[in-house]
Amino acid sequence: MFEKSTWIRLPRNVVVGHGVRSSVVEVVDELHLQGRPLLVTSPTPRAVAAEPVAADFEAAGIDPAIVTIESATFESVETVIEAAEAEAASYLIGVGGGKAIDIAKMASHHLDMGFLSVPTAASHDGIVSNRGSVPDGDTRHSVAAEPPLAVVADTEVLAEAPWELTTAGCADIISNYTAVMDWRLAKRLKNVEFSEYGAALSEMTAEILVDNADHVRPGLEESAWVVTKALMSSGVAMSIAGSSRPASGAEHLFSHQLDRLAPEAALHGHQVGVGSIMTAYLHGGERGIWRDIRDALDSIDAPTTATELGLDDETVLEALTTCHEIRDRYTILGNGMDERAAREGATKTGVID
Ligand SMILES: [Zn+2]
Repeated sequence: MFEKSTWIRLPRNVVVGHGVRSSVVEVVDELHLQGRPLLVTSPTPRAVAAEPVAADFEAAGIDPAIVTIESATFESVETVIEAAEAEAASYLIGVGGGKAIDIAKMASHHLDMGFLSVPTAASHDGIVSNRGSVPDGDTRHSVAAEPPLAVVADTEVLAEAPWELTTAGCADIISNYTAVMDWRLAKRLKNVEFSEYGAALSEMTAEILVDNADHVRPGLEESAWVVTKALMSSGVAMSIAGSSRPASGAEHLFSHQLDRLAPEAALHGHQVGVGSIMTAYLHGGERGIWRDIRDALDSIDAPTTATELGLDDETVLEALTTCHEIRDRYTILGNGMDERAAREGATKTGVID
Protein backbone atom coordinates (compact mmCIF):
# COMPACT_ATOMS: atom_id res chain seq x y z
CA MET A 1 0.00 0.00 0.00
CA PHE A 2 1.27 3.44 -0.93
CA GLU A 3 1.37 5.77 2.06
CA LYS A 4 3.85 8.48 1.18
CA SER A 5 2.87 12.13 0.96
CA THR A 6 4.69 15.42 0.63
CA TRP A 7 3.76 19.08 1.03
CA ILE A 8 6.08 21.47 -0.78
CA ARG A 9 5.89 25.13 0.14
CA LEU A 10 7.43 27.48 -2.40
CA PRO A 11 7.31 31.24 -3.03
CA ARG A 12 4.52 32.00 -5.48
CA ASN A 13 6.33 34.88 -7.17
CA VAL A 14 10.06 35.21 -7.63
CA VAL A 15 11.05 38.48 -9.26
CA VAL A 16 14.77 39.02 -9.90
CA GLY A 17 16.57 41.64 -11.97
CA HIS A 18 17.36 45.23 -12.72
CA GLY A 19 15.10 47.77 -11.02
CA VAL A 20 12.54 45.24 -9.79
CA ARG A 21 12.43 46.97 -6.39
CA SER A 22 9.67 49.13 -7.82
CA SER A 23 7.57 45.99 -8.48
CA VAL A 24 6.90 45.26 -4.80
CA VAL A 25 3.49 46.97 -4.82
CA GLU A 26 2.50 45.10 -8.00
CA VAL A 27 3.60 41.79 -6.47
CA VAL A 28 1.50 42.50 -3.36
CA ASP A 29 -1.47 43.22 -5.61
CA GLU A 30 -0.91 40.03 -7.58
CA LEU A 31 -0.95 38.05 -4.34
CA HIS A 32 -4.26 39.71 -3.37
CA LEU A 33 -2.81 40.86 -0.05
CA GLN A 34 -5.12 43.32 1.66
CA GLY A 35 -4.52 45.86 4.37
CA ARG A 36 -1.42 47.43 5.75
CA PRO A 37 2.14 46.15 5.23
CA LEU A 38 4.77 46.32 7.95
CA LEU A 39 8.24 46.77 6.47
CA VAL A 40 10.89 45.13 8.66
CA THR A 41 14.34 46.52 7.98
CA SER A 42 17.66 47.44 9.58
CA PRO A 43 19.48 50.80 9.51
CA THR A 44 21.45 50.62 6.23
CA PRO A 45 18.83 48.92 4.02
CA ARG A 46 16.20 51.29 5.38
CA ALA A 47 17.49 54.21 3.32
CA VAL A 48 18.56 52.15 0.30
CA ALA A 49 15.46 50.04 -0.12
CA ALA A 50 12.79 50.19 2.60
CA GLU A 51 12.03 53.90 2.26
CA PRO A 52 11.73 53.82 -1.54
CA VAL A 53 9.41 50.79 -1.25
CA ALA A 54 7.37 52.65 1.41
CA ALA A 55 7.10 55.63 -0.96
CA ASP A 56 5.79 53.33 -3.72
CA PHE A 57 3.09 52.07 -1.35
CA GLU A 58 2.10 55.63 -0.43
CA ALA A 59 1.87 56.53 -4.12
CA ALA A 60 -0.50 53.58 -4.54
CA GLY A 61 -2.70 54.84 -1.68
CA ILE A 62 -1.47 52.27 0.88
CA ASP A 63 -0.08 53.51 4.19
CA PRO A 64 2.83 51.26 5.21
CA ALA A 65 4.36 50.96 8.69
CA ILE A 66 8.14 50.54 9.14
CA VAL A 67 10.06 48.98 11.99
CA THR A 68 13.87 49.11 12.14
CA ILE A 69 15.67 46.36 14.04
CA GLU A 70 19.30 46.60 15.11
CA SER A 71 20.21 43.00 15.79
CA ALA A 72 19.24 39.43 15.01
CA THR A 73 17.86 38.41 18.39
CA PHE A 74 14.66 37.03 19.86
CA GLU A 75 14.05 40.50 21.32
CA SER A 76 13.97 41.86 17.76
CA VAL A 77 11.39 39.22 16.82
CA GLU A 78 9.33 40.42 19.82
CA THR A 79 9.73 44.04 18.72
CA VAL A 80 8.39 43.18 15.26
CA ILE A 81 5.46 41.18 16.66
CA GLU A 82 4.53 44.13 18.92
CA ALA A 83 4.88 46.61 16.05
CA ALA A 84 2.68 44.46 13.79
CA GLU A 85 -0.02 44.40 16.48
CA ALA A 86 0.27 48.10 17.37
CA GLU A 87 0.21 49.20 13.71
CA ALA A 88 -2.57 46.76 12.78
CA ALA A 89 -0.44 45.32 9.99
CA SER A 90 -1.83 42.49 7.89
CA TYR A 91 1.41 41.19 6.29
CA LEU A 92 5.16 41.66 6.65
CA ILE A 93 7.88 42.58 4.18
CA GLY A 94 11.49 41.89 5.19
CA VAL A 95 13.76 44.42 3.48
CA GLY A 96 17.46 43.95 4.09
CA GLY A 97 20.27 41.46 4.44
CA GLY A 98 19.94 38.18 6.27
CA LYS A 99 19.09 39.83 9.58
CA ALA A 100 15.93 41.76 8.70
CA ILE A 101 14.62 38.91 6.56
CA ASP A 102 15.18 36.26 9.22
CA ILE A 103 13.44 38.38 11.83
CA ALA A 104 10.47 39.17 9.55
CA LYS A 105 10.18 35.51 8.62
CA MET A 106 10.13 34.37 12.24
CA ALA A 107 7.71 37.09 13.33
CA SER A 108 5.31 36.29 10.48
CA HIS A 109 5.36 32.63 11.50
CA HIS A 110 4.36 33.63 15.01
CA LEU A 111 1.72 36.12 13.81
CA ASP A 112 0.30 33.71 11.23
CA MET A 113 0.76 36.36 8.54
CA GLY A 114 2.10 36.34 5.01
CA PHE A 115 5.62 37.56 4.40
CA LEU A 116 7.59 38.88 1.42
CA SER A 117 11.37 38.80 1.11
CA VAL A 118 13.14 41.80 -0.42
CA PRO A 119 16.86 41.04 -0.03
CA THR A 120 19.46 43.79 -0.32
CA ALA A 121 22.42 41.39 -0.11
CA ALA A 122 22.92 37.97 -1.70
CA SER A 123 24.68 36.68 1.39
CA HIS A 124 22.95 33.35 2.20
CA ASP A 125 20.13 31.07 1.17
CA GLY A 126 17.89 32.22 4.04
CA ILE A 127 16.46 34.87 1.70
CA VAL A 128 14.13 32.23 0.31
CA SER A 129 14.05 29.30 2.78
CA ASN A 130 11.53 28.56 5.50
CA ARG A 131 14.15 28.41 8.24
CA GLY A 132 15.12 31.32 10.41
CA SER A 133 18.19 31.51 12.58
CA VAL A 134 19.08 33.79 15.47
CA PRO A 135 21.73 33.50 18.15
CA ASP A 136 20.35 32.74 21.60
CA GLY A 137 22.90 33.07 24.38
CA ASP A 138 25.90 31.10 23.15
CA THR A 139 23.95 28.95 20.72
CA ARG A 140 22.33 29.58 17.40
CA HIS A 141 18.89 28.20 16.80
CA SER A 142 17.50 27.33 13.45
CA VAL A 143 13.75 27.50 13.87
CA ALA A 144 10.69 26.94 11.73
CA ALA A 145 9.55 30.10 10.01
CA GLU A 146 7.23 31.19 7.26
CA PRO A 147 8.55 30.70 3.70
CA PRO A 148 8.13 33.91 1.68
CA LEU A 149 5.02 34.32 -0.47
CA ALA A 150 7.26 36.21 -2.88
CA VAL A 151 10.88 37.22 -3.29
CA VAL A 152 11.74 40.50 -4.98
CA ALA A 153 15.50 40.72 -5.56
CA ASP A 154 16.73 43.84 -7.31
CA THR A 155 20.16 43.23 -8.86
CA GLU A 156 20.86 46.97 -8.95
CA VAL A 157 20.52 47.09 -5.14
CA LEU A 158 22.29 43.75 -4.61
CA ALA A 159 25.30 44.83 -6.69
CA GLU A 160 25.79 47.78 -4.33
CA ALA A 161 26.08 45.53 -1.25
CA PRO A 162 29.54 45.02 0.22
CA TRP A 163 31.40 42.53 -1.97
CA GLU A 164 32.17 40.13 0.87
CA LEU A 165 28.43 39.55 1.36
CA THR A 166 28.16 38.31 -2.22
CA THR A 167 31.22 36.05 -1.92
CA ALA A 168 29.68 34.67 1.30
CA GLY A 169 26.50 33.84 -0.65
CA CYS A 170 28.62 32.04 -3.28
CA ALA A 171 30.48 30.06 -0.62
CA ASP A 172 27.17 29.04 0.98
CA ILE A 173 26.12 27.59 -2.38
CA ILE A 174 29.48 25.88 -3.05
CA SER A 175 29.04 24.11 0.30
CA ASN A 176 26.00 22.31 -1.16
CA TYR A 177 28.47 19.74 -2.55
CA THR A 178 29.44 18.51 0.90
CA ALA A 179 25.95 18.98 2.35
CA VAL A 180 24.62 16.51 -0.23
CA MET A 181 27.54 14.11 0.40
CA ASP A 182 26.62 14.11 4.09
CA TRP A 183 22.98 13.61 3.25
CA ARG A 184 23.71 10.58 1.01
CA LEU A 185 25.94 9.14 3.70
CA ALA A 186 23.23 9.60 6.33
CA LYS A 187 20.75 7.89 4.04
CA ARG A 188 23.05 4.90 3.49
CA LEU A 189 24.09 4.61 7.12
CA LYS A 190 21.11 5.85 9.11
CA ASN A 191 18.25 5.56 6.65
CA VAL A 192 17.38 9.26 6.92
CA GLU A 193 14.74 10.51 4.52
CA PHE A 194 16.26 11.48 1.20
CA SER A 195 14.97 13.34 -1.84
CA GLU A 196 16.59 12.65 -5.20
CA TYR A 197 15.06 15.84 -6.63
CA GLY A 198 16.26 17.94 -3.70
CA ALA A 199 19.78 16.49 -3.87
CA ALA A 200 20.09 16.80 -7.65
CA LEU A 201 18.85 20.40 -7.69
CA SER A 202 21.21 21.36 -4.89
CA GLU A 203 24.26 19.82 -6.61
CA MET A 204 23.33 21.29 -9.96
CA THR A 205 23.00 24.73 -8.38
CA ALA A 206 26.52 24.52 -6.96
CA GLU A 207 27.82 23.30 -10.31
CA ILE A 208 26.25 26.14 -12.29
CA LEU A 209 27.68 28.66 -9.86
CA VAL A 210 31.18 27.17 -10.07
CA ASP A 211 30.93 27.09 -13.89
CA ASN A 212 30.03 30.80 -13.82
CA ALA A 213 32.59 31.79 -11.20
CA ASP A 214 34.50 33.85 -13.78
CA HIS A 215 31.50 36.17 -14.13
CA VAL A 216 31.30 36.78 -10.41
CA ARG A 217 33.14 40.08 -9.98
CA PRO A 218 32.65 43.09 -7.68
CA GLY A 219 30.11 45.73 -8.62
CA LEU A 220 28.62 43.80 -11.54
CA GLU A 221 24.88 43.33 -11.65
CA GLU A 222 25.52 40.09 -13.54
CA SER A 223 27.22 38.71 -10.43
CA ALA A 224 24.23 39.59 -8.27
CA TRP A 225 22.03 37.89 -10.88
CA VAL A 226 24.05 34.66 -10.94
CA VAL A 227 24.36 34.44 -7.15
CA THR A 228 20.76 35.37 -6.35
CA LYS A 229 19.33 32.86 -8.77
CA ALA A 230 21.57 30.18 -7.26
CA LEU A 231 20.38 31.11 -3.74
CA MET A 232 16.76 30.82 -4.90
CA SER A 233 17.45 27.47 -6.45
CA SER A 234 19.13 26.25 -3.28
CA GLY A 235 16.10 27.41 -1.28
CA VAL A 236 13.78 25.54 -3.65
CA ALA A 237 15.88 22.39 -3.15
CA MET A 238 15.30 22.71 0.61
CA SER A 239 11.57 23.24 0.08
CA ILE A 240 11.35 20.15 -2.12
CA ALA A 241 13.23 18.10 0.46
CA GLY A 242 11.21 19.57 3.32
CA SER A 243 14.52 19.88 5.15
CA SER A 244 17.67 21.99 5.11
CA ARG A 245 19.67 18.81 4.29
CA PRO A 246 20.31 19.74 0.60
CA ALA A 247 22.23 22.82 1.72
CA SER A 248 23.40 22.04 5.23
CA GLY A 249 25.74 19.29 6.38
CA ALA A 250 28.81 19.05 8.60
CA GLU A 251 30.24 22.29 7.16
CA HIS A 252 27.20 24.07 8.62
CA LEU A 253 27.64 22.38 12.01
CA PHE A 254 31.24 23.63 11.92
CA SER A 255 30.05 27.17 11.17
CA HIS A 256 27.39 27.10 13.90
CA GLN A 257 30.03 26.01 16.38
CA LEU A 258 32.33 28.85 15.27
CA ASP A 259 29.42 31.24 15.93
CA ARG A 260 29.51 30.09 19.55
CA LEU A 261 33.29 30.05 19.96
CA ALA A 262 34.04 33.29 18.11
CA PRO A 263 30.81 35.27 17.64
CA GLU A 264 30.75 37.60 14.62
CA ALA A 265 34.31 36.64 13.63
CA ALA A 266 33.38 35.87 10.03
CA LEU A 267 30.34 35.66 7.75
CA HIS A 268 28.20 32.52 7.73
CA GLY A 269 28.94 31.71 4.08
CA HIS A 270 32.68 32.17 4.51
CA GLN A 271 32.73 29.84 7.52
CA VAL A 272 30.77 27.09 5.77
CA GLY A 273 33.06 27.42 2.73
CA VAL A 274 36.16 26.68 4.80
CA GLY A 275 34.25 23.92 6.62
CA SER A 276 33.34 22.44 3.26
CA ILE A 277 37.00 22.16 2.19
CA MET A 278 37.72 20.07 5.28
CA THR A 279 34.62 17.88 5.19
CA ALA A 280 35.20 17.19 1.47
CA TYR A 281 38.64 15.94 2.49
CA LEU A 282 37.04 13.68 5.11
CA HIS A 283 34.68 12.24 2.50
CA GLY A 284 37.21 11.64 -0.23
CA GLY A 285 40.67 11.78 1.32
CA GLU A 286 43.61 13.02 -0.75
CA ARG A 287 41.83 12.35 -4.03
CA GLY A 288 38.56 13.91 -2.93
CA ILE A 289 37.01 17.06 -4.37
CA TRP A 290 38.37 19.28 -1.59
CA ARG A 291 40.86 20.91 -3.99
CA ASP A 292 38.07 21.80 -6.42
CA ILE A 293 36.07 23.35 -3.60
CA ARG A 294 39.09 25.30 -2.35
CA ASP A 295 39.92 26.53 -5.88
CA ALA A 296 36.32 27.56 -6.51
CA LEU A 297 36.24 29.55 -3.26
CA ASP A 298 39.61 31.07 -4.07
CA SER A 299 38.48 32.16 -7.54
CA ILE A 300 35.64 34.24 -6.09
CA ASP A 301 37.82 35.77 -3.32
CA ALA A 302 36.19 33.79 -0.51
CA PRO A 303 38.40 32.72 2.43
CA THR A 304 40.03 29.27 2.33
CA THR A 305 42.07 29.38 5.55
CA ALA A 306 41.60 30.04 9.27
CA THR A 307 43.71 33.19 8.97
CA GLU A 308 41.55 34.55 6.16
CA LEU A 309 38.51 33.97 8.38
CA GLY A 310 40.24 35.99 11.09
CA LEU A 311 40.43 32.94 13.36
CA ASP A 312 43.29 31.15 15.06
CA ASP A 313 44.07 27.51 14.33
CA GLU A 314 43.01 26.29 17.76
CA THR A 315 39.50 27.75 17.43
CA VAL A 316 39.06 26.04 14.08
CA LEU A 317 40.21 22.72 15.55
CA GLU A 318 37.95 23.06 18.54
CA ALA A 319 34.96 23.75 16.29
CA LEU A 320 35.85 20.80 14.07
CA THR A 321 36.16 18.33 16.95
CA THR A 322 33.09 19.44 18.91
CA CYS A 323 30.50 20.53 16.33
CA HIS A 324 28.95 17.05 15.93
CA GLU A 325 27.42 17.61 19.39
CA ILE A 326 25.33 20.64 18.55
CA ARG A 327 22.54 18.93 16.72
CA ASP A 328 21.23 15.53 15.95
CA ARG A 329 22.21 15.47 12.29
CA TYR A 330 24.30 12.58 11.05
CA THR A 331 27.26 13.67 8.90
CA ILE A 332 30.76 12.54 7.96
CA LEU A 333 31.84 13.71 11.43
CA GLY A 334 29.89 10.78 12.92
CA ASN A 335 30.19 10.94 16.67
CA GLY A 336 33.23 13.16 16.62
CA MET A 337 36.72 13.58 15.21
CA ASP A 338 39.91 12.57 16.91
CA GLU A 339 41.95 15.65 17.74
CA ARG A 340 45.09 14.58 15.93
CA ALA A 341 43.11 13.51 12.89
CA ALA A 342 41.43 16.93 12.87
CA ARG A 343 44.81 18.66 13.00
CA GLU A 344 46.12 16.50 10.18
CA GLY A 345 43.07 17.08 7.96
CA ALA A 346 43.04 20.82 8.56
CA THR A 347 46.78 21.02 7.84
CA LYS A 348 46.67 18.86 4.70
CA THR A 349 43.91 21.01 3.23
CA GLY A 350 45.88 24.16 4.07
CA VAL A 351 43.15 25.52 6.37
CA ILE A 352 45.63 25.75 9.23
CA ASP A 353 49.44 25.98 9.11
ZN1 LIG B 1 24.13 28.32 4.85
